[in-house]
Amino acid sequence: MYLLLEPEHKYPRCFCSEEELLMAKSIREFTEKEVFPRRQDLEGGWHRDEDLAHKTLYELYYKCHKLGLTIANLPTEYGGLGLSPIVRQMINEELSRGDPGLSTLVGKIHWIVSFMYNRVNVRKDLLEEFAPKLTGKIPYIACVCITEPEGGANIEDPSLEFRTLNVVIAKKRSDTYVLNGHKIWPGPAAKPEYWDRWREKWPDIFAGHLGYWVVVTEDPSRGEEAAGMVYVPYNAKGMSFGEPYMKCGFCMTDENVDIWYENVEVPAKYRIDTKPGDGAKIIHGYVIGLGRLAGAARLTGIATAVLEIALDWTKDRMIAGKPVRERSLFASILAQMYRMVDLARQYYLSVTWQASRPDVYGEPWSPHMIAKFSSARSFAGEVAMFCTNKAMELMGSYGYSFEMNVEKYYRDYKIIQMWLGGAQRDLMDIAQGLYGSFKWGGYDEWLTRIHEKGKTLEKKIDKTMSEAVGESETKQIKKDLEKDKEYDLDNLTKK
Ligand SMILES: Cc1cc2nc3c(=O)[nH]c(=O)nc-3n(C[C@H](O)[C@H](O)[C@H](O)COP(=O)(O)OP(=O)(O)OC[C@H]3O[C@@H](n4cnc5c(N)ncnc54)[C@H](O)[C@@H]3O)c2cc1C
Repeated sequence: MYLLLEPEHKYPRCFCSEEELLMAKSIREFTEKEVFPRRQDLEGGWHRDEDLAHKTLYELYYKCHKLGLTIANLPTEYGGLGLSPIVRQMINEELSRGDPGLSTLVGKIHWIVSFMYNRVNVRKDLLEEFAPKLTGKIPYIACVCITEPEGGANIEDPSLEFRTLNVVIAKKRSDTYVLNGHKIWPGPAAKPEYWDRWREKWPDIFAGHLGYWVVVTEDPSRGEEAAGMVYVPYNAKGMSFGEPYMKCGFCMTDENVDIWYENVEVPAKYRIDTKPGDGAKIIHGYVIGLGRLAGAARLTGIATAVLEIALDWTKDRMIAGKPVRERSLFASILAQMYRMVDLARQYYLSVTWQASRPDVYGEPWSPHMIAKFSSARSFAGEVAMFCTNKAMELMGSYGYSFEMNVEKYYRDYKIIQMWLGGAQRDLMDIAQGLYGSFKWGGYDEWLTRIHEKGKTLEKKIDKTMSEAVGESETKQIKKDLEKDKEYDLDNLTKK
């Protein structure tokens, strides 16, 4: 036991109550008792047994759900626990200390709830629709689709104002949206039959896939005001899926595939944002900003896990009759690891605390808050990189072996540092939050091209429409569509 790594010292009482501290302790105990012994099974063992990996993942996920971890941020009026953002971060960190993939799967449910219950809007109708599934005895999993072939980081780049999005939605009738386009890398994602198969195999622990929360646009050339988010059920017609990418980490705990949308129809109520411009706030603040902050806690959990493994190992490895951790060469590296881990934690806790006081510190979609979220993730990423690297060095070949678990954290940390725009995007967002926004060289020429493309597309649509329904009907439809930009969700949901 290392006192400085115990919850009492990790989570200072200026950020949490005694009750919240007790929760951190019970998540920690759960991780040690249930997750630690099965870390390697979550990879399907050295030989990547897919069945073993999935069974382990869903068994542990079920246990997390039973503990209430998945519904931590669902408000109490919808049957959730309504716990604070600090507890949500404790869950991210403590579970990630056991396995970052399991932590991310639980975090996905927190994430999707935050899109429907936030300072931009509260989608009571959708929360009421999803609550019975989220709070049921057997848990569902969910997925968020952001990244596109044009470049994931471009969507996360605020200066490009969502003009690179290619998943486009259009109103078909007043009660339906149609999606077309292509997302890459979302996870967990796969054909509906795939999830049905696991559900049928393990009905007592796995309820299935809830569906996809997809970042979309009505028209890329209109930038921020046209961006939004749409919920697509896991078995919606018109979606097709690629094969899982083979990757460095998260080998079995996240299945990432391509998704193509071809005239996928969803009820209009599944558009999460309800006013032009709100979609951009949700994407900047809750998808990207707070998504990165959750990543900071997970990265800190990884760094803590490898520090503990290195501490234990260097206690038993001797040089000339003395534990190596008592030799200054080793002691100074372990001390540096601790110093960095604790700083990463104190910083992400402070930013989380600030994020829950937007009246004082600003809205989560404001550039200065995004700079803080990005700083937290960026710093925690460097800490996880340093600690996994040094733990491996201190432990020599044992650190490199599958058996000691360090190599798993070494592979997993990297993508938490890279998703949602990556290490470079974090730094750009910090700089822009610090001294104001700036655009890339060539931006104006590019913008002109995007507008031209938009106009050509509009002309083509007008021509096709005139040929189909005549000129006066076309004018009327366009007038209606213009009105539609001010879409009124209350009216829609009343119907
Ligand atoms: C295990 C795993 C899970 C994932 N889960 C999901 C998921 O659930 N949903 C989802 O949507 N995606 C997911 N992703 C995708 C991931 O978020 C993206 O890969 C990531 O955001 C980077 O996008 P990209 O790969 O297209 O890289 P690029 O956009 O090509 O970026 C490559 C590099 O260039 C830099 N760069 C590029 N453009 C810019 C720019 N405009 N500003 C600053 N820097 C820039 C980046 O920082 C990065 O270093 C996942 C990926 C993996 C491996």
